[in-house]
Amino acid sequence: MEQVAAGDVVGIGIHTANALRGYEIGKQARERGAYVVYGGIHATLFPDEGHEVGGAHAIVQGDGDKVWASALEDCASGRPQRFYLGGRVAGDEFLPARWELIPREKYMWASVQTVRGCPKHCSFCSVWKTDGQKPRQRTSDAVIREIVELRRMGFRYIALADDNFYPVTLQDLELAKRQNNDARYSELKAMRDERFELMKKLAMLPKDLIFFTQITMEAAEDTEFLNAMRDAKIKGALVGVESVTPEGLKDIYKDFNLAGDALVDRLKRFREHGIYILGSFIFGLESDRPTTFDATASVAQRADLAFAQFVTLTPFPGTVDFNRWEKMMGADLQTIGGVPITRRWLIPTPLRPKVYWPHPVMSGEEIRSRTQEVWDTFYSFKYIWQRSGFLKSTKSRLAFLLISKIYRQMYADTGIATDSARVAWSARWARWMAKPCQKLFATKPMPELQVPMG
Ligand code: SF4
Repeated sequence: MEQVAAGDVVGIGIHTANALRGYEIGKQARERGAYVVYGGIHATLFPDEGHEVGGAHAIVQGDGDKVWASALEDCASGRPQRFYLGGRVAGDEFLPARWELIPREKYMWASVQTVRGCPKHCSFCSVWKTDGQKPRQRTSDAVIREIVELRRMGFRYIALADDNFYPVTLQDLELAKRQNNDARYSELKAMRDERFELMKKLAMLPKDLIFFTQITMEAAEDTEFLNAMRDAKIKGALVGVESVTPEGLKDIYKDFNLAGDALVDRLKRFREHGIYILGSFIFGLESDRPTTFDATASVAQRADLAFAQFVTLTPFPGTVDFNRWEKMMGADLQTIGGVPITRRWLIPTPLRPKVYWPHPVMSGEEIRSRTQEVWDTFYSFKYIWQRSGFLKSTKSRLAFLLISKIYRQMYADTGIATDSARVAWSARWARWMAKPCQKLFATKPMPELQVPMG
């Protein structure tokens, strides 16, 4: 912050979980004379809030690819507008990041987006509302150029930071065929072909690159797609498992997922194709019972997951759940620290409740403590070591252990622990451990690397 001076432009991307921190930073920057501009999902959904509590000069709503340049120009001429409407830009207009501006040594991995939007409509997720249900795919050549630039700089691990890397399922194609909807079938087929074209080009990049992404579980049924992912060096994926019961999946409009033993088999299919999964589970669904926690821990253990995260059901703005929850809270709102509960992200962090949804049979504290137990078990030394068995060398297994522990500290303790000393210690520990890990992730720059032909 000491480097911020009058006339600078400070752009802050916020999502709901870090909005309050973003506003604090924005206010400090404004006090030092800088122009403050907020963007990101949260700023898109609550555009006035940045002005009201974050000291904003301007808010960018929607995609920043095109309007960010206008915001900068207006600030430079001393006349920023209050709002910039970015909308949803087409896939062939996504801009690459300005990687040459970042301090390389502060980043473990880089991220590149290949598609925005998701055709599903899960009730807890805002992606399909904000990025839209029509997937917008970037051209494969633009993606490859950006990745080549990153590998030249010495990045080896790259997140394909997509809403859903598998936007067209085999079932979608079958349905269009059954309905004799030729136009729809051709559109879906073209989208699927573009995915394969991208993966073919990724396969031509240096062998030491490792990609990871986010994907729906249905991809496990698509052997051709899994094989292409393996060849493209996409070795990790976050899969939203959410619930291990059919009732839980219905609660969140995600019944395209499987439950029980079928779920375990489906998740294992990824591993059989060399793709390591970070499974994401939600606790606190209406149909959850105390037995759900053990059942979930058992699935996570049996399904050959490399990592897992267990989150409590939280209503995020822009989602179906949030609208239902806001309505349920009614007009006579509880306030905490002077903030209405329905603007929970503005509540000072130590005062925030851990669970927001009233549950029919469990208290918030029971859901929180049982969730923490599942984290503790999954990330115990014994189980991490067992899971690391797929790695050949002891050094790699130790690195896996370290990364698992960092992941657990960063996400579990800071998310669900109630003891503030433990939360602060976890954050410090994770930051401290991240430094040696950065070295593990980096590799020698390859300045001479060219975009492969073909
Ligand atoms: S949770 Fe995943 S599958 Fe569901 S709408 Fe969001 S991005 Fe799509």
